[in-house]
Amino acid sequence: VPLLEGRDLGKAYGRAHGRTEALRGASLRLDAGEILAVTGTSGSGKSTLLHCLAGIVRPDTGAVSYRGERLDQLPEKRLSELRRTEFGVVFQFGQLIPELTALDNVALPLLLAGVSRAQAHTRAGEWLERFGVRGQSELRPGEMSGGQAQRTALARALVTGPKAVFADEPTGALDSLASEQVMTALVHTARESGTAILLVTHDTQVAAYADRELRMADGAVAGAEVTA
Ligand code: ADP
Ligand code: ADP
Repeated sequence: VPLLEGRDLGKAYGRAHGRTEALRGASLRLDAGEILAVTGTSGSGKSTLLHCLAGIVRPDTGAVSYRGERLDQLPEKRLSELRRTEFGVVFQFGQLIPELTALDNVALPLLLAGVSRAQAHTRAGEWLERFGVRGQSELRPGEMSGGQAQRTALARALVTGPKAVFADEPTGALDSLASEQVMTALVHTARESGTAILLVTHDTQVAAYADRELRMADGAVAGAEVTA
């Protein structure tokens, strides 16, 4: 069983006037520990596909399975629990909490999961270290560079030990050096922890870090193979 699979996904936004079909029969398989890049031009449906696979958006048609369980049919309560325990997400602008230090941002998912404060801070520090931003532990997001903030956001996405991390243009706001540092850190830590990464990007340099690359066009994935 693949870790995560989307089959024949369809998703439309809006009604009659200005209706957009963001997904039209998109299929994709993500294996455990795999780093998969989904590329394609702006508007091809990459973000919508990521949102459907991550259980953030429900597809109109088709099926999303996580370890054989139909995500698209789960009640919201169970879905949000699964997102919290099994998945990590990171977006183009890390969406760190501006009032919290880097350490507290990374500790937060652990605190929400019931880990003690002391334990949460210890583990958060370790993950900041892995991403090369331990020296920035006490800084707030506004006091960090874009690359440091994104590495902190990645530490936060990985700190709970998710099976899959969904990264939507994680380097979209960074220059090429910072991009490289973020991707190197992400790939290295994902390998170490056996975390699968679904990486959405329009940047071919960034996609080159993945094990496999699939291209999207017009709401569908070219060359995607799903299990029978
Ligand atoms: P990409 O990530 O490849 O840029 P998106 O999945 O963001 O593509 O968008 C695919 C299409 O769906 C685009 O035409 C976009 O404008 C539209 N779209 C995406 N999200 C929404 C939304 N929440 N409401 C309306 N249209 C949307
Ligand atoms: P990306 O390039 O990652 O797709 P966007 O800026 O297109 O980022 O989209 C950011 C968010 O806005 C996404 O959650 C997407 O679903 C939503 N969105 C995209 N296009 C539209 C749209 N035309 N109308 C409303 N929401 C949209």
